[in-house]
Formats: sequence, C-alpha cells, structure tokens
Amino acid sequence: MNSDCLFCKIIKGEIPSDKVYEDDTLYAFKDIHPKAPVHLLIVPKKHYPTLNDIPDNEMGIIADIHVAIKKLALEFGVAESGYRVLANTNKEGGQVVFHVHYHLIGGRQLRA
Ligand code: 5GP
Ligand code: ZN
Repeated sequence: MNSDCLFCKIIKGEIPSDKVYEDDTLYAFKDIHPKAPVHLLIVPKKHYPTLNDIPDNEMGIIADIHVAIKKLALEFGVAESGYRVLANTNKEGGQVVFHVHYHLIGGRQLRA
C-alpha cells in the first residue's frame, strides 16, 4: 500500500470504482475513461510502480492477472470477438498511473 497511489486507494475502497473482479491478490475495475465498450483495468493488490519493479520471484502475479483477464474476456463477451491487453510502462510507454495495471480493451474493431 502506497498512501499517495490512486490505485492503492481504489483497492482499499477509499476511492469508489466499478469493481468487476477481486480475489486475495488481484483487483479489477472499469476504466473511468473507456477507450472501447469494454475497458477494464486489472491490478495486483500489492503496490509495484512499474513492471520493472516486480522481483523475478514475484512474477507469478502476472500469470494470475492473465488468468483473470481470460475469465473477464469471457464474462464481458469479447473472448471470441477479440480484445487487446496492454501494460503501459514508464513515461515513453504512456504510463500515467504508477501502480502496475493491465488494460483489457474490446467490444469494437481496434486499430494498430
Ligand atoms: P495508464 O496510461 O497509466 O496505462 O492508464 C491509466 C488508466 O487509469 C487510464 O486509462 C485512466 O482512464 C484510468 N484512470 C485514471 N484515474 C482513474 C480513476 O480514478 N478511476 C478509474 N476507474 N480509472 C482511472
Ligand atoms: Zn499503488
């Protein structure tokens, strides 16, 4: 938990969110500015600023995120039509919120 982090506050419920999934280590919610009909954010509950900050021996959390993404894609009806998974990393990668998160985007034709 980082008290200055927006997503830590969302995970703790200090800032409201549209939760779509939660377990002991993960939290997922709707993006506040959706870029497509389905736009979800999947985050580890543990605060890592970027992917670079996850120790090798804790990278299992990334597999767990992908398991959740697979379930959410089915639940939100985009598993077959198609979807995109993104993890923007650091400034030139377009990262704005420095708590690791994966975007799950779908529900329309996405362009490169
Ligand atoms: P990034 O550019 O860091 O990969 O993406 C951050 C994402 O968080 C953006 O898509 C943005 O719309 C979303 N976001 C920022 N603030 C909030 C918020 O308070 N609530 C929710 N649900 N999403 C947010
Ligand atoms: Zn955080």
